Parts: sequence; C-alpha cells; structure tokens
Amino acid sequence: MQSISPTSIFRGNDAWVEALPKITELSKRPLVLGRSLKTALLRNKICKDLKDRNLNVYLENLQFDCCYEDIFRIESIILQNKCDSIIASGGGKVLDAGKYLAENLSIPCITVPLSAATCAGWTALSNIYTPNGQFIEDIQLNSCPKILVFDHNFIQTAPVRTLASGIADALAKWYESSLTSSTINDGIVQQAVQISRVLRDQLLIDGKNAVNNQSDSNQAWKNTIEACGLTAGLIGGIGGEMCRTAAAHAFHNALTQIISSKKYLHGEIVGVGILLQLRLEEMKNNNKLANQLIKQLLILMKELNLPTTISELGIDVFDSNNLEIIADFTCRDKSEIHYLPFKINKQDIIEVITNYEKQEISI
Ligand SMILES: [Zn+2]
Repeated sequence: MQSISPTSIFRGNDAWVEALPKITELSKRPLVLGRSLKTALLRNKICKDLKDRNLNVYLENLQFDCCYEDIFRIESIILQNKCDSIIASGGGKVLDAGKYLAENLSIPCITVPLSAATCAGWTALSNIYTPNGQFIEDIQLNSCPKILVFDHNFIQTAPVRTLASGIADALAKWYESSLTSSTINDGIVQQAVQISRVLRDQLLIDGKNAVNNQSDSNQAWKNTIEACGLTAGLIGGIGGEMCRTAAAHAFHNALTQIISSKKYLHGEIVGVGILLQLRLEEMKNNNKLANQLIKQLLILMKELNLPTTISELGIDVFDSNNLEIIADFTCRDKSEIHYLPFKINKQDIIEVITNYEKQEISI
C-alpha cells in the first residue's frame, strides 16, 4: 500500500483560514504541537483561532528533537486529555513527531509547516533522533497527514536560512533518486524521478532570487517554497520506497552522530552530503560529469550561504576518531548507502571524505 499525498491540501496566503472549517469538522479537542520559541506567536494565533471556534485546545512543545523521550511524554498528555487530533505546527522535527504520534494513537494529523525547510508536512515518514539530535532511524508510516496547511504568510516569517536549507534538501531528491532508480524499470518510479529533475532545474533557476526576496509577490519565492515543501513530498509519495534516498542522506545521518557546538539544519547537512555523494560517484562509479555537477552546485550553495564542507558544519573529521564514526555509521547494515547501484565499504567512505575535505575546488 502506498500513501501518495495528504487527503486535503490548503496552499496560499489564506491557507490557514481556509482550512479552519475542515479542521473544526474533524476535531473538537486538538493538541497543537510545536517547539521553537521563535514560532510561539504563530502557534498562539493558531490556538486562538481554534478556541474562537469553540474547540478545546491543548498546546505542547517538544523539548528536544523528534525523539522517543518527547514522543512518549506527549503521548500520555494526549491520552490524559482525550485529544482527538494533532496539529503539528513547526519545522520538520515537530511535523515528524506529530505524524508518528497521530499514527500510534489512530487520530488524524494536521500538519502546518512554519518554514519551507522540509517536505515533512507532506510525507508518510518520521525520522527519529536522540535527544541530542543524533539520527536513529526513519519510520515508514501507513499514511500521509489528513490535512496539510501550507500557509504562505506563515512560511514568510521563517528565517531565510530555513529556505536555503530546504532548497538543499529538495535538490537531493534528484541526485539520490536518479542514482538509486537507475536499475528500476517501474514506470511510475521513473516518472517520479523526472519530476525531481524538473524540481532541481527550477531550484537552480529560482533559488537565489527566492532567498534574496522572501515575498509572496515574488513568483520565484512562491515556486521555491512550494517546490521544497510540497513537490519534494509528492516525489516521495509517487516514487515510494523505490524512489529512495541514497548517499547524501546516509552522510547526513552519519554526520549527526558527531555533536558539534553549533546546531545545523537537516538540509544544510544533506547539502554537504550531495557533494560527497557526487565525489563518491566519480571515484567508484566512473561518473565523468560529477566534478562539473559539484562546481554547478557549489555556485548555488555559496550564493545561498550554505555550508559546503564537513568542516563548515563545525566538525573536524581528522580529530580523534570522527572519521571512523562517520564511516561506520554510513556503512551500517541499515544505511541508505547500500541502495547505491555500486558497492561501497568503510574504506571508500574514509577515502572520499579525506579527499573531499582536503581539496580546494575552484569555481
Ligand atoms: Zn531530507
């Protein structure tokens, strides 16, 4: 069974207001889930609008990332208060926690992304981390959210850094799925991969303009936030498990195992992962275009102020046994790296990272 998309999607400047009657129909005792203090005002507005419609509203925040500790704590709050839906409003970690909880408790999930950093508002997937932000596993859910509210006015309040991060994460769709699906004959998967190519092209064209002018009157901005928040999710929905993530996300998951002093966003780490994946393709799969593709991406990533090396993520791979930890995690049994159409071992990872971190690429 495949869940392709949320049952209802509201998008545009008034998406939240337009969604209110549908939410009221669905739920009388929603729990509004959030995390960041920076988005507290928006959540207060969401709660007020729901209370004005005579709903019993409960508000809870994650204390950490999307981790089992937070999930179990909030699960008991939902049960105690007999909440009949979850309205997850925030970034990817909040959306993932909301979806996981809703599925566990068999209640509907309404996702209200407050940035374009992720397509988690769309997908039937939850990534689970430790309270420190180290990746543990991704959980495939039975269904996408019941309602997705993609309100442009909400998204517009997010820091520009979240949009740049969302662009990097959405770009990964093409670089990963085109590689993993190269041996798959399923037509639907091939079509999903082609959508990811168009998505990549649009981001290369519009990304810089979108980041420089975050306004709903800017078509490039509108296209870009919807590409990151909606289309990226659609590709996962259509392509399903076969349209998989590959090395870029495997590198992301491994890099989160090293705790650095500053916290980086999911897409910021995935972006570095794409560059490492391309270098890996060049070294192990004889991809003669890889170096050109790296240069093309570096131009955009620098314009977007995205990190482009592991050291820019605050991690010294040559310090203590960091390189070993990253290589071990990248090559663990359950890793996405094994979806690559060529074999990779720990030594390859050590080699590619060492080579990449020491090089200087002129663009
Ligand atoms: Zn991602």
